[in-house]
Amino acid sequence: MDGKGLSVHLILTVDYELFGNGLGCIDRCVIDPAERMMGIVQECLAPLTFIVEATEFIAMEAGGESVDGVRRQLALAVAQGHDTQLHVHPQWEQAARLSDGAWHVDDHRWRMGDLPFEDTLRLLRTGKEWLEAVVNAADYRVTTFRAGGWCIQPSGAAVQALLKLGFRVDSTVAPGFRNAARGEWSDFRSVPRRPYWNVDGDVCREASSGLWEVPIVTGRIAAWRHLRAVKSSRTSGDGGFACGCEGNYLGPDGGWGM
Ligand SMILES: [Zn+2]
Repeated sequence: MDGKGLSVHLILTVDYELFGNGLGCIDRCVIDPAERMMGIVQECLAPLTFIVEATEFIAMEAGGESVDGVRRQLALAVAQGHDTQLHVHPQWEQAARLSDGAWHVDDHRWRMGDLPFEDTLRLLRTGKEWLEAVVNAADYRVTTFRAGGWCIQPSGAAVQALLKLGFRVDSTVAPGFRNAARGEWSDFRSVPRRPYWNVDGDVCREASSGLWEVPIVTGRIAAWRHLRAVKSSRTSGDGGFACGCEGNYLGPDGGWGM
């Protein structure tokens, strides 16, 4: 908005993944909804930033599942003016395909914040290289990251690994949000009251230089209103998921594995 000194800059980000335990179909839970979203924003010429869970697509390809549709869609999206950046759920590294077709992921590695520096560095490097190869455009680089399940804390190792690999931005912090479950925790109740800030270790504390933390927009709503919205979406149509998607958000402690 212009004219009265107020300017609003929105970055529309969409996590691009089979969420939670990996149940669900890539076409119906990922590719079709992404196509629909790109159609919607086209009307107002707004670009989307897909935050791509590279680790799971790498694991799926290693397990013999084709993700060619994902590869095609991401390359085309960038060619059309959208962006793709990196999202990592560590539990997908070394995921195994079970005889019934489902994926077995390692819930003990749900939280990136619990991993040693070397593991974090490897996951980020592998994901960044995969995504840059998929998009394969001369001026394209992966510079932005969002941790799976928002589980980046304690964030010292992740921030150092991101800096080492040339990342510029982390976008994991959701101001005001807290998940107290032991295997999925994150705590963003105390963060700078700013639209973005520098971090060099703790993503919730402003530093004089380092990565940019660009938080996810959140709003405070009453618990009953939230529960009512969740209940109504789960009990209607496709249960709050995209049409035909049968995904599952559940994390190791029963929470939502975003
Ligand atoms: Zn995710």
